[in-house]
Amino acid sequence: MTVGILGGGQLARMLGLAGIPMGLRFIVFDPAPDVCGAAIGRHIQAQYDDWDALRAFAEAVDVVTYEFENVPVAAVAHVEKYCRASPDKVALHATQDRLRENRLFQSLDIATPTFLSVDSASELQVAAETLGYPLVLKSRSGGYDGKGQVVIRDQSETDERWSETQQRDLIAEEFVPFDREVSIIGARGKDGDMVFYDIAENTHTDGILRISRNCPDDPIRSQAEELLARLFDKLGYVGVLALECFQVEGRLLANEYAPRVHNTGHWTIDGAITSQFENHLRAILDMPLGDPASTGLCVMVNCIGDLPEVESCLAVPDAHFHSYDKAPRPGRKVGHVTVRATNSRDLEERERRLLAIQPKL
Ligand code: AMP
Repeated sequence: MTVGILGGGQLARMLGLAGIPMGLRFIVFDPAPDVCGAAIGRHIQAQYDDWDALRAFAEAVDVVTYEFENVPVAAVAHVEKYCRASPDKVALHATQDRLRENRLFQSLDIATPTFLSVDSASELQVAAETLGYPLVLKSRSGGYDGKGQVVIRDQSETDERWSETQQRDLIAEEFVPFDREVSIIGARGKDGDMVFYDIAENTHTDGILRISRNCPDDPIRSQAEELLARLFDKLGYVGVLALECFQVEGRLLANEYAPRVHNTGHWTIDGAITSQFENHLRAILDMPLGDPASTGLCVMVNCIGDLPEVESCLAVPDAHFHSYDKAPRPGRKVGHVTVRATNSRDLEERERRLLAIQPKL
């Protein structure tokens, strides 16, 4: 069977690394010339509005999936005329606009930070009066890794920060004094079967994910699973889905969801019985889902900007190195390293060693 992937980045590459042992073939579709996902199969280099190329792509594969939520919905809709897409365009459409996404959460009784739509300086003023400071202004579409958002700490910063935004199609959110950021990742099959991974506890630097650790038996897990299950069912979803949340005391506030395999689930490659990548493929190909249980404690450290020296990483016990074969560039995710341990003392020590050898951000 052949899987078509819209987007040819590292997530496509890792889907291929999981699927090739299962006998799967891959075609990636990406407008860029040199994509690291091309290592797993054929690369169709064409624009997302090249309807003929999209049709040829869809006709050459058994199922289409996407690895990136900014793929235009129209491209997925076009592909769906010729081939099944999983997840489908519905899940993609809802997440491409933060206002729509937050309203979807509200309709499912999933709490979010308090938010208001902002399309003008006067609406920003109303938002500031309602939410207070600090507040976060985010572009409704196209943002990722903290791009397209600014934090306004007090009234005196408003004009300067406002000038850094596109001044329309924004949402203002209360700044959440969270205890921690967590994500829950699960897979749902066509028959509605679901599996869930351990909660991941995540740390961001400059809006970019830096560290994720799995938290076996976390007390918040059942609440998180319940929220993800509501989304799964509402969307009639097939594949892997990730929900990122802020935890404030014992309560989860949804920040955003990603209709795809997710960076906070990379630990599952080395740390779970069945990785998120394998389970995504199993789900979209209507195969039985695999056991998501973790095999112990893990920390995943993203390599941002440049890779550390591989030998130094592998000198840390039970560390596993993943390079995406991407050119170094500030702010770019070029690889990750996962380290495992059977107890938290060893894990913390190994994490400290790994962080000490990462190139400076
Ligand atoms: P996002 O692009 O929404 O995923 O935001 C990137 C990061 O910015 C998040 O992971 C948080 O660390 C931080 N952030 C986003 N929204 C808020 C908020 N409303 N309150 C506090 N921190 C936030």
